[in-house]
Amino acid sequence: FRRVELEPLPHMTLDFVKLLNEVCEQCYRDFAPDDVEVKVREHILQDFENFLRCQVPGAKLVLFGSSKNGFGFKQSDLDICMTLEGLDTAEGLDSMAVIESLTKALRKHHGLRNILPITTAKVPIVKFYHTKTGLEGDISLYNTLALHNTELLASYAAIDIRVKILCYVMKVFAKVCDIGDASRGSLSSYAYTLMVLYFLQQRSPPVIPVLQEMYVGEKKPVVLVDGWDVHFFKDLKNLHKYWPEYKKNKESVGQLWFGLLQFYTETFNFKETVICIRRKEPLTTFKKQWTSKHLAIEDPFDLSHNLGAGLSRRMASFILKAFINARTVFGTPVRCFPPEYSNKMEYF
Ligand code: ATP
Ligand code: MG
Repeated sequence: FRRVELEPLPHMTLDFVKLLNEVCEQCYRDFAPDDVEVKVREHILQDFENFLRCQVPGAKLVLFGSSKNGFGFKQSDLDICMTLEGLDTAEGLDSMAVIESLTKALRKHHGLRNILPITTAKVPIVKFYHTKTGLEGDISLYNTLALHNTELLASYAAIDIRVKILCYVMKVFAKVCDIGDASRGSLSSYAYTLMVLYFLQQRSPPVIPVLQEMYVGEKKPVVLVDGWDVHFFKDLKNLHKYWPEYKKNKESVGQLWFGLLQFYTETFNFKETVICIRRKEPLTTFKKQWTSKHLAIEDPFDLSHNLGAGLSRRMASFILKAFINARTVFGTPVRCFPPEYSNKMEYF
């Protein structure tokens, strides 16, 4: 992410900001799942759990990821976490043996195809394809931190509808520009969501607070999971009492989307600063010893985890170019946008 010369943009017009806003809102309406689709996911989960319980005693399943964090697409994968009743952590668990019995069990399920265990990943998983819905998914074991970051993202999504809309716009942008697939060397959608949240925290006035820095009482509580502090402020109903900037930001989603593109192309210094949503004060790549990375995005709980660590120089520059092009496209007033996606589903 080297500094590049940016072309000056023509003056923004009120009409164009309005159009931008409509495009963002339309994107959200087009891609957000409806109530039935949400229920279908819960139904599949329940069916799996009932089925698995006969084969893997004590198996408990929970949905996480975008099925639960408020930024799900109709065709998003099903992220499922499995735990065993009576066993709080994976310590002492023979994960490989459990993955093996889980694979065997899932292969007996008539509604599933392409059951594939992946044991080389950081978190071992079993992938599957659900024939009836065409949904792909995976089951991981004791992916506890992911359950917490799902809840954190869901809390931010619940604070303001603009958070939700912008995260959808960002995810669509990443998919359309082909920069949103971590398994192919780019960034995960989780990483893009963190980029949006960071921008919204740093905006002046901010759209969202830093929930991990907020607490009620004298001292910030520490809740440890897998050795990491997962505390964050959960009493959202009373957010206005504890966050003085509540509802101070009145910008439209269109303004914020263009603001985000400007922020990451004109203001933010990728070389020196870490994208970090757990604190308001800037965090330097120097402090983290992440200076050799092209892009640093700190996981909000697992602080040793840089979501940008896997980016090659080429990919990092490809991503930055996508942002620079978007800044020009969304920053140049035109009377209407061409229909970018004719068939909404083909991208997902
Ligand atoms: P999508 O709609 O693209 O599926 P998603 O948020 O579900 O979005 P996934 O890649 O399916 O993204 O990841 C599922 C969940 O796993 C994420 O929401 C997040 O909670 C967790 N996760 C994914 N990648 C990481 C990562 N690199 N580090 C920590 N947690 C991650
Ligand atoms: Mg997912």
